[in-house]
Order: sequence, then C-alpha cells, then structure tokens
Amino acid sequence: MRFAWGWVRARTPTSLKAGEETLERLLPGLRDALYAAGAAEIRVGRDVDFFDPGGPVPECDPGFSVTALSRPRYERVPRDKVRALANVTLRDETPVAGCLVDEGSCVGVELSDGEQVLAGLVVDSSGMNGPLCEKLAADGEADFDS
Ligand SMILES: Cc1cc2nc3c(=O)[nH]c(=O)nc-3n(C[C@H](O)[C@H](O)[C@H](O)COP(=O)(O)OP(=O)(O)OC[C@H]3O[C@@H](n4cnc5c(N)ncnc54)[C@H](O)[C@@H]3O)c2cc1C
Repeated sequence: MRFAWGWVRARTPTSLKAGEETLERLLPGLRDALYAAGAAEIRVGRDVDFFDPGGPVPECDPGFSVTALSRPRYERVPRDKVRALANVTLRDETPVAGCLVDEGSCVGVELSDGEQVLAGLVVDSSGMNGPLCEKLAADGEADFDS
C-alpha cells in the first residue's frame, strides 16, 4: 500500500527516525508498545510518496522504517510510560505564567494560580510558539538570538 506524505502526517503522526531512536532510548520498549497499540511500519521511500518543489521524488530504499499511529494513541502510549516512572509527576491543565529568576539563573516557575515551583533544573518545552522564552527576554532576564 502507498500513501501520500501529507495525508499520512495530517491523520497519523509519523516518527522521525532520530526522534524515534531517542524516545526508545529514554523509554525502553516504547516502539513495541506503539505497535501493540496498532502502529503501522512505514518503509521510508517506498510506502510513502514524497513531493518536493521539483515534483514527485522517485521511489528509493534508504533502508529504514518509521512508525505511524493515530494521534490520540501516539500521544497516549508515551504518556502512559512517563506516568509509570516512579520519580515523575505530570500535572495536567497547569499553565505556567513565567520563570522565576534568581541572580540570572532560572530557579523554578510560577503557575498562573500564583503557586511557585522551585527546581534545580527547568526545561522549557512549551513549543516553538511558547511564551516563556519571550517573557524572559521581555523581563530583561535573557537575550536570545533570533
Ligand atoms: C500539522 C502538524 C503535523 C505534524 N506531524 C508530525 C509528524 O508526523 N511527525 C513528527 O515527528 N512531527 C510532526 N509535527 C511536528 C511536531 O508536532 C512538533 O515538532 C512537536 O510537537 C514539538 O514538540 P514540543 O514538545 O517541542 O512542543 P509542542 O508539541 O508544541 O508542546 C508544547 C506544550 O507546551 C504547552 N504549553 C505552552 N505554553 C505553556 C505554558 N505557559 N504553561 C504550560 N504549558 C504550556 C502546550 O500546551 C503544549 O502542550 C507536526 C506538526 C504539525 C503542526
């Protein structure tokens, strides 16, 4: 069966290979769990038609596959694995209002309800449009290259 790449990505997230390998290293057994949840193996260059500005890319075989699954399941499977980690707590629906900065270092976050959460290490994973880095810059706490 062959698919058009846009169709695949719109309906079913498909791992990028480096990301898939990284996730498997961080969450061993993730790939098997994705397939147990119904994932499809897509042979890159063979099962998907690519189009670049020059037109369709000829079929090729770079020799690796990626994993595709419906979005709800693709998000649920790793989330369940992360929830199972003993030292991890996920807090849903918890907007972060800003970063707490002390002497130039980020030492925690302030939630929108005013609660302050202190941490030795803060990772901003709020996405490419996330406001937190912008707010740090606006507050004069950081100077980012665009
Ligand atoms: C239509 C579409 C299809 C795609 N298909 C694929 C694909 O098939 N394969 C692939 O590998 N990639 C795909 N991508 C790209 C992929 O989705 C992104 O690269 C990836 O989601 C980025 O992850 P992230 O964790 O950095 O950010 P995000 O996924 O954007 O996650 C950021 C999270 O932070 C939360 N957040 C933001 N601000 C705050 C705040 N102040 N307080 C608390 N939480 C906050 C947001 O609610 C969100 O949950 C696709 C992207 C799009 C738009």
